[in-house]
Amino acid sequence: MEQPDAVVSASGVERALRESRGRFESAFQQAPIGMALIAMDGRWLQVNDALCQITGFEAAQLLTLTLGDLTHAEDADVEADALQELLAGGVESFEVERRLRRALGDDVWVLLTTSLVRDPEHRPMHRLMQVQDISERKALSGKLEHAVDHDHLTGLHNRRHFERALSRETERARRYGVPGALLLLDIDHFKRVNDEFGHRAGDDVLKGVAGMLRLRLRQTDLIARVGGDEFAVLLPQTDLAQVQIVAEDVVRSLARETAQLADRSLRITASIGAVMLDGLTDGEAFACADVAMYEAKEAGRNRVEMYRPLNGGRARTSVRLAEADRIRRALLSDELLLYAQPIRDLRDGQVKSHEILVRLPAEDGGEPLLPARFLYRAEQSGLIQAMDGWVVHRAIRLIEARRGSDPRVVLHVNLSGRSVGDQRFAQRIEDAIDAAGIDPSQLVFELTETAAISQFEDVRAFVARLHARGCRFALDDFGAGFGSFHYLKNFPFDYLKIDGDFVRDIVHDPTNRLVVSAIVGVARGMGMETVAEFVIDEETVTMLRTLGVDHVQGFHVGRPVLAAEGLGGANA
Ligand code: GH3
Ligand code: MG
Repeated sequence: MEQPDAVVSASGVERALRESRGRFESAFQQAPIGMALIAMDGRWLQVNDALCQITGFEAAQLLTLTLGDLTHAEDADVEADALQELLAGGVESFEVERRLRRALGDDVWVLLTTSLVRDPEHRPMHRLMQVQDISERKALSGKLEHAVDHDHLTGLHNRRHFERALSRETERARRYGVPGALLLLDIDHFKRVNDEFGHRAGDDVLKGVAGMLRLRLRQTDLIARVGGDEFAVLLPQTDLAQVQIVAEDVVRSLARETAQLADRSLRITASIGAVMLDGLTDGEAFACADVAMYEAKEAGRNRVEMYRPLNGGRARTSVRLAEADRIRRALLSDELLLYAQPIRDLRDGQVKSHEILVRLPAEDGGEPLLPARFLYRAEQSGLIQAMDGWVVHRAIRLIEARRGSDPRVVLHVNLSGRSVGDQRFAQRIEDAIDAAGIDPSQLVFELTETAAISQFEDVRAFVARLHARGCRFALDDFGAGFGSFHYLKNFPFDYLKIDGDFVRDIVHDPTNRLVVSAIVGVARGMGMETVAEFVIDEETVTMLRTLGVDHVQGFHVGRPVLAAEGLGGANA
């Protein structure tokens, strides 16, 4: 009964096998990805059209070669372990990314998937390989990697990359004892370049400095742009004398080269702080170089200062970190102090608005940090936006608290460049205004023109958004930079605060009177009000009134006092 069936079924199996083999052959040949059947010794036994296309070889050529012949030297071992595991039966297949040498001699990145074809006894007969061209993906990820590690303006490495390299170098120096050095270079008075020649020219200067550094330094030195106008250089395995020579050379070349740009009064100098990496961690190295760089600035700029571990230098290393920490703690524990300084309206003699100022209280009987210093630190340590946010919230609460006694009070709040470019910050302000239910026009945000410079479009969007919401804006220190008029054209300011330099001596200085009267003319023409700061006596007030200034502020009008008291006991 069973015999005839078995015969029929044997020939059926053969046919089925033939058919399946035929299907395999055509699938193999027409597959859209490269396929190869490879002997266990590495010879190619069968290849398809797609593989020929990827490698650029004719099928006949490929069949005379082995996989080893097409292997990039660096990839020789990439699949050895995986292949062992495949042969041992531990896995069904494995994938590797590697390069294949092409007919023209170049390489192509491919994803190889390898599996085994076994005989009926389950012994490995051939390797079956699938080959996918991944060169586009590799090129893209290469570009992304480049972007992640480089500064797009100068093409130098960025801070992220530099910090990693620095930490490897400090580690190496600690282990092997041959220290490298870190140079921190900051362009002197760079804001003036932006102010006087525009942001584009500023960018060109940054690129020029990058080019000069590339030219002056060795291939093995690592150069990065680590901040706005701040560059860092890592000199591996060097000594103090050498560092001094290299740093001096950089500073002198920069001053010399830019002095030759006779067509513009654009003389660029820079200050360098340098430190030997001897036994320092990367964080300490940055802090020390920073301290030295600030010493170079304080000593008159356009010079090099070596960080000196002696003379109490050790203690100073941590100054920057300690100050940042002090600001952070004051923020967290709500210990920053709010001061208010009155602004008098000259048209009716009333004080209706105040500028809100923030102070960092003295700690343990120590010196209070001056605003210039701690604002700089806050900016440097990334705390400035949190601080701006804190002040805005407090100002809103002050306005809210005075709803009964002084419902029209107006508070001026300073915002830093780091805050005004950020839409999320704008959102938080809007939310806080809504939650408190105050009239947005009771808030005036004061910006300096340098705040607008580094991210012009973002700042414009920020200002437009809050202005549309009803908040008002003042341009601070008007006249201090030549870019001021440019900003008037592009931002909807409500107030111009005349730079104190024009106000101080106005009674005796005819030029200042001309400047102030011109500013008043421009402001009126554009529907803005003017505020004069640094008003120290009644004579100045009279002069400003004559010139048509709308508001005055300064010690003569009132010194900054604690906001809660200055605003009549409102509890902020
Ligand atoms: P100092 O001598 O004390 O260093 O004075 P400075 O004016 O150079 O002051 P600081 O180094 O603090 O200022 C750096 C300025 O660089 C602030 C910012 O407006 C500007 N800036 C930051 N990034 C860019 C940028 O990508 N392009 C341009 N053009 N300017 C930038
Ligand atoms: Mg600078």
